[in-house]
Amino acid sequence: MKKFFQKILLAFCLILVFIILLSGIFIIRQIKSAVLSNQINELTELASALTVEIQPYERMDDSQLEKILTTQARISKTRVSLIDVSGKVVFDTEKEAGELESHRYRPEINRALSGEVTWTARYSDTLRKKMLYVAVPIRKGGQITGVCRVSRFLDLAVESYQKARNRLLICLALFMILGGGLSYLFLRKLFRPLQDIALLTEKVASGEQGMAVGPLLRENLGELASAINQLISRNQEVNELLRENKELLQTIIDSTEEGWLLVDEAGRIILANKSLRQMFPEIGEGSEFYWQSLRCPEINEILQKAHSSERPVEGQLEKDGRIYSCQANWLPLNRRFLLRFADITEIRELARKKKEFVSNLAHELKTPLTAIQGFLETMEEENLSEDGKKYLKIIQRNTERLVNLVEDLSRIAELEEKGTELKKEAVNLQEIIQSVIKIYSRRAEEKGLYLKLEAETVPEIFADPYQMEQLILNLVDNAVRYTEKGGITVKLESKDRGVLLSVSDTGIGIPEEHLPRIFERFYVVDKSRSRKTGGTGLGLSIVKHIVLAHRGKIEVKSSPGFGTTFIVWLPASFENSQ
Ligand code: ADP
Repeated sequence: MKKFFQKILLAFCLILVFIILLSGIFIIRQIKSAVLSNQINELTELASALTVEIQPYERMDDSQLEKILTTQARISKTRVSLIDVSGKVVFDTEKEAGELESHRYRPEINRALSGEVTWTARYSDTLRKKMLYVAVPIRKGGQITGVCRVSRFLDLAVESYQKARNRLLICLALFMILGGGLSYLFLRKLFRPLQDIALLTEKVASGEQGMAVGPLLRENLGELASAINQLISRNQEVNELLRENKELLQTIIDSTEEGWLLVDEAGRIILANKSLRQMFPEIGEGSEFYWQSLRCPEINEILQKAHSSERPVEGQLEKDGRIYSCQANWLPLNRRFLLRFADITEIRELARKKKEFVSNLAHELKTPLTAIQGFLETMEEENLSEDGKKYLKIIQRNTERLVNLVEDLSRIAELEEKGTELKKEAVNLQEIIQSVIKIYSRRAEEKGLYLKLEAETVPEIFADPYQMEQLILNLVDNAVRYTEKGGITVKLESKDRGVLLSVSDTGIGIPEEHLPRIFERFYVVDKSRSRKTGGTGLGLSIVKHIVLAHRGKIEVKSSPGFGTTFIVWLPASFENSQ
């Protein structure tokens, strides 16, 4: 505002100076010409009067006449010269006439000899100064007998003009100062309300409350002032709303159990919620970048993956003996990462204990169950009553279920315990399928089903052979169990740098609503049928576990009453850490 004011003031002053200078030049010129013509008139009158005085004298070089002329010249501060028609100077008040050259061709003499009353301002060769000359012809009996020339130093002639000019210049300078001062006062008065508004808006911008344009300003600025007042109150409303929303957001963010961390591309911390600061107290100690206090290379890896894939990426990290899950989301619009941390140490411990328990339980149950099975077989040879035989069968069937369950449980425990550590080697899937078919061919035959393999020549894949066998065993076992007529076809073909294995049957099928859940542990579609066929609800979850551990994919297509197909794709080779 100050600069703007200075600019306007400068412009005002420049305009003022320009106008005053222009009018000054005009006035000075006017004065100059007025003073000059005044001088010419005066000299003309003097010269004309002298020609009249000359009249009574016979000769122009009369000493009496010379006296008169000298006196007149001294009084009027002029030089008087008498020139005859030949141009010869007869008399001069300043010089000896005889010393002077012919004046015939002096412009004023020349014109006066032709009868004109004339004037000229020129440099005098005689006196070596600029002079104003007025020449009047001297007449006698109608004849021009000579010229009376009256001259005065030009600076003397314009002395009054110079005085007037100087006075005028002083006046103009005073006008300028006065004008400048008045402009300053006027502009200051004009700017005062604007300055007040600038001050007011500054205060509003810095968040000061209860501000408004005062009555004085309202008087001066009318509509503008009320518009500003409206703007201020709207601004206050918006600020209030923003503050409320911010507080609400902060409360929500702080109340989540997850630790939230928002960082920019360079890792600069934008936001860290309460839970995060509790998880990692170092973060709250004014670190600018997360890596200054969270020295975990895993986070950097997760961030890079999230950035390049533009998808949420999850990982784990260990810090000070605790395990954290970390999910990173790349927000491309804001060019920021949102990291969500959860302390999963207890969950991990619980899962480990559960696994340990299941594996121990399975192990402990195996020995008594084998003993029971053995004794049941021995009892078969005993002479039992019909009822006894019936009960023995029931006990045998249930023991078998129990054995299956224990086996599946220990298999799951085994798989989970191994985690991602697979014993990978080149595996010929065709051979494994053939050995599984051999195991199940008798059961299929008993049920009157066909069991065949349709295989292209596929390359060997890099996988865990034991797990591959478990996978195929489970799928073929289910297919045989849930099919009563028709049969089972196992197909093998190459696809997308891997192999596609499918097990299709013409069995009872699975209703659509069950399809999303059949891979869950202990999920059975029909409990009584499962019980009858010795199912445990664990087979497909083992299959899924194996497929995922090998970075493969599994899908199921089924139509109740017509059959089911499980399709498994396995990559030819993969890295565990991928
Ligand atoms: P289960 O040991 O009970 O068979 P699974 O996990 O192997 O458990 O299978 C889950 C459920 O999926 C089964 O209860 C069964 O109803 C259904 N199912 C699996 N395979 C087939 C199949 N080939 N045909 C029809 N239903 C099947």
